Amino acid sequence: MTKLQAAAATEATEVEAKNIALSYDGGKTFVLKDINLKIAPGEFFALLGPSGSGKSTLLRLIAGFNQAQSGQLLIDGKDVSQVPAHLRDVGMVFQSYALWPHMTVAENVGFGLVERKWAKPDVARKVGEMLELVGLQDYARRRPNQLSGGQQQRVALARTLAISPKVLLLDEPLSNLDAKLRVQMREELKALQRRLGITTIFVTHDQEEALATSDRIAVMDGGVIQQIGRPEKVYDDPINRFVANFIGTINLVPARVKPIDETIEPLTRDARTVLIENAVWGEMYVPAFGFPTAGTQGEVMVRPLALHLAPAGAPARPMDMVIDGEILSCEFMGEYVRYRVKTPATTLIADQSHRSHTPMLKVGTAVRVAVAPQEFRFI
Ligand code: ADP
Ligand code: MG
Repeated sequence: MTKLQAAAATEATEVEAKNIALSYDGGKTFVLKDINLKIAPGEFFALLGPSGSGKSTLLRLIAGFNQAQSGQLLIDGKDVSQVPAHLRDVGMVFQSYALWPHMTVAENVGFGLVERKWAKPDVARKVGEMLELVGLQDYARRRPNQLSGGQQQRVALARTLAISPKVLLLDEPLSNLDAKLRVQMREELKALQRRLGITTIFVTHDQEEALATSDRIAVMDGGVIQQIGRPEKVYDDPINRFVANFIGTINLVPARVKPIDETIEPLTRDARTVLIENAVWGEMYVPAFGFPTAGTQGEVMVRPLALHLAPAGAPARPMDMVIDGEILSCEFMGEYVRYRVKTPATTLIADQSHRSHTPMLKVGTAVRVAVAPQEFRFI
């Protein structure tokens, strides 16, 4: 373990929100509604949701720029609701970077230290360390407009980390970068976070970004946290239709719960197997969350990658659910081909991984769609 990591491991900070409600208009409408979450020391935690869902509002509340109407914000167990932003030991990186155009890279990075009245040699040493950390040691004398977007992003990060915050807050830090750079920067960001062990809260509307970087994700909509969980959990077991739709692509088919068989043991504390009926696959047993009662209307969900296409009439594996259909459209996506398959009841999306020089199925081709039963959920 390096000195940095050792220090990080013992010093990492916990952030907890308890029953936070926030309104910008004196309580007429609430932008945050009963927010509860606990972020572990050293965790990389994403706030994911569509524009306007309250992500920045929550982040700014943690930073101390916003005041809640009710609830508590705890940092390492201490209620900081009344502590002003500059005394909270949190650092924030904004989407726009907010670098000073008239200052050099070094001056930008040292800005917070000068403000804190650090001695000149100490500032120079720390700035050197930070520039090395983000790989910009050769750019100290440049100005922001002489840097690429990715480099500006690194300067903003170095400036924030220079003040040694206990918590790092990132508000859509990658959204001004082009697609390739965004992927590269998110890998760098994650590696840096791991190296420093600093508790990090990362706001994004990009589901892939959240899935790829984070230890856990809170999915937000309308100021409400819809689900908190590890990326694979939120993807595989979305708790409701919103989460299912927002993260990844999905097939949803209306379904109804049949009388509950109480002899079937619950799967987990919050899920059980139920018999449902739907227009595509008829009757089937699937896991369901929240213990729905008989007659509950919902949807059966299945991801497009779980649908396997075979020639019509091909033998299926014994347990697979099969339905015959016809190719309605195909889209070549590079890594996979996205087919829309018309079945008697509805159109399904089926993604098939692409291998070099394999021809795509033509529109009108009769196919058999097979799905392994464990791929279904009732929501
Ligand atoms: P997100 O970051 O998820 O896009 P925001 O937290 O910025 O969402 O905004 C959530 C809601 O609060 C939006 O409806 C937005 O218009 C509103 N809002 C954000 N900031 C303010 C503000 N300073 N004053 C009034 N309303 C605001
Ligand atoms: Mg925002």
